Amino acid sequence: MWARKRIDISWIDLAFGAVRCFVPAHRQRPLPPIAALGPAAGDMLESLSVRSGFDLLLTALELPPGSEVLVSAVTIRDMTRIIEEHGLVPVAIELDPATMAPDLERLRQAATPATRAILVAHLFGGRIDLRPIAEFATKHQLLLIEDCAQAYAGPEFMGHPASMASMFSFGPIKTATALGGALVQVRDPALLARMSALQAEYPRQGRWAFLLRIAKYAGLKAVSSRPVYGALVRLFRAFGVDHDRLVNGAVRGFAGEGFFVRIRRQPCAALLALMERRVRRFDARRLEARAAAGEVLLERLGEVEACPGAASTPHSHWVFPLKVDDPPSAIAALARAGFDATQGQSLVVVDPPDDRPELDPLVTRDTMKKVIYLPCYPELPSEAIWRLAAAIAPLAARAATPPVRQAIARSEILCTSTPQSNASSI
Ligand SMILES: *Cc1c(COP(=O)(O)O)cnc(C)c1O
Repeated sequence: MWARKRIDISWIDLAFGAVRCFVPAHRQRPLPPIAALGPAAGDMLESLSVRSGFDLLLTALELPPGSEVLVSAVTIRDMTRIIEEHGLVPVAIELDPATMAPDLERLRQAATPATRAILVAHLFGGRIDLRPIAEFATKHQLLLIEDCAQAYAGPEFMGHPASMASMFSFGPIKTATALGGALVQVRDPALLARMSALQAEYPRQGRWAFLLRIAKYAGLKAVSSRPVYGALVRLFRAFGVDHDRLVNGAVRGFAGEGFFVRIRRQPCAALLALMERRVRRFDARRLEARAAAGEVLLERLGEVEACPGAASTPHSHWVFPLKVDDPPSAIAALARAGFDATQGQSLVVVDPPDDRPELDPLVTRDTMKKVIYLPCYPELPSEAIWRLAAAIAPLAARAATPPVRQAIARSEILCTSTPQSNASSI
């Protein structure tokens, strides 16, 4: 069985990280600044995670309590939890299913005099067009914060110049992972200095804890090969264990008690060294291979409506979401065909503020309820991708929109889809 995901790190990188854990902090050679590796020089914070960096950002910003933050309606649960911890109110913004970009009409409707910031997420590996949102932010004097956790594509793209901050994750399931760590590009030097000063007060992540983490993910990497994974899934099934929950739970970061204590740490030297290595030696060909696998699936499917976010470009297909009518039976059908799909557990739909039910992102809610994630990574041979494409063709959701046949060139679909196209059509 083809596992849902492969951890995007080589054995050599893992060994490098492990060896670095044995070097005490005062013996580490100073690293060249990661910022110097990309076109955007200088203004970058290296943090333990995107969540840690975002929390630092909000601490440093000191927005008045009760301020509202407009957020892309899909994100990981902890992002809104952090907003709330700072006494701020997250306000969900409906997304255009074609691109997963915030709907402009909804942004206008949601903004109030209490609105201070917008948190936009680039979802599933696609990169959304930030220009209209940046214009909106400028017009209303809102801070624009860009969540690029799912959109890392090498040091050439370090965020949109109009955002105040752009956050990239190197967490375990992310592209070019360092099993943790994040880069936060901050375009206001004074703000960056405040964030760095705050972070310098944090206790440091322990290097043995990081070594343990490397061991854990080395283990997960070892069992994600096709024959081993298939055997394990069969074994779990025989013992009545839900492997889906087990796997999704195993890769969740900062789960359990003491969330804020645990994110408020500095990354250890070994993590920093591994992150620097992943950026410096970024493997563009691997990313291209993954993107190509996603494009083949899209092309064979011929229905981008069933693939939320497919119309955003460039797209690296960090994950491949597919909207189906009946997720459990689609997952079962794919399992029979040898593919391990999942509904996922980490992404959530943001609830509207209690007193503004009209902002409930119904289109996004419907989409996310029916989305399953398919295996899509460079290790999949073309033969498997074609088989997967054939297996998903009859499963793709058709209810909401008329099917677009292969006859219509994909480029045409991309050109004609407008940001507001079907966002309010539910
Ligand atoms: C993974 C992810 C994060 C969190 O990144 P960490 O570095 O693990 O904190 C935030 N937002 C989105 C959309 C993500 O996918």
